[in-house]
Amino acid sequence: MLVLYKPHIDFITNHAVDPDMRRYAVAQEGARHYIDIDHYGQYPFNALPRKWDDARVKFSSDSLQDHGIVPWWVQTMLYRLTGAFKEKNQVKILKLSAEIGHYIADAHVPLHANSNHNGQYTNQQGIHGFWESRVPELLADKEWDFFIGNADYIKDPGNFIWQRVLESAAAADTVLRYEKELSEQFPPDQKFSFENRNGIVVRQYSAAFTKAYDLKLKGMVERRMRMAIYSVASFWYTAWVNAGQPDLTKLSNKEFSADDLKEFENLSNNWKNSKIIGREHEE
Ligand SMILES: [Zn+2]
Repeated sequence: MLVLYKPHIDFITNHAVDPDMRRYAVAQEGARHYIDIDHYGQYPFNALPRKWDDARVKFSSDSLQDHGIVPWWVQTMLYRLTGAFKEKNQVKILKLSAEIGHYIADAHVPLHANSNHNGQYTNQQGIHGFWESRVPELLADKEWDFFIGNADYIKDPGNFIWQRVLESAAAADTVLRYEKELSEQFPPDQKFSFENRNGIVVRQYSAAFTKAYDLKLKGMVERRMRMAIYSVASFWYTAWVNAGQPDLTKLSNKEFSADDLKEFENLSNNWKNSKIIGREHEE
């Protein structure tokens, strides 16, 4: 699959954020990035049917939308990506690969599987961006290893993504509790630091606090990121296999159309100019 993905790695990287930008333009978009699974009781949340149709009958789709639909949306995207491989449509394959990657990665983030997603109920506002941006930005380049072995074929993608969501849900407690415990040990002036970013002074978690948190989490952020990379690669591979393993050197529709380019431009304009529709989340 490298013949396809390697030359387009910049496209994939740049467009992996499109789903987040779309939250500024499309009301239904937000729900695709998370699931407040604690809404459905206690781990492992057996009150919530894993199949969309069963869940819809039990809770109604409006209510499911209200609490987030990421595990189902990943499966919808897999279906679309498989279709794009069947069509041998390169533009579609690349767009959908970038986007499914985003949703899969979100499903690996503990605070995307918990209603207290930014610590708003426990006076820990900012913890969402702390876990998923500040920690990796400080540590990933220098200390973490993202070399992942081969992708695998996923026999049951529904079950696979639910397992990842359940892991995220189980980890959310720890993510929140450890930040709280550590905050009690750090005086406020050592918990936060001030940094000049493009002429604006911003308050952020200090390097010392960030490192202490990562140590206490015993590498959880890196582990989840490694798992996310493996999952994305395996979903891409699975879509390709399920499409009948089309020859990737013989794809059609390799140029972005005027409509594609317009769509990219609109997404980024909406993002720059407007407020988010639906609920906030950090990245
Ligand atoms: Zn997202």
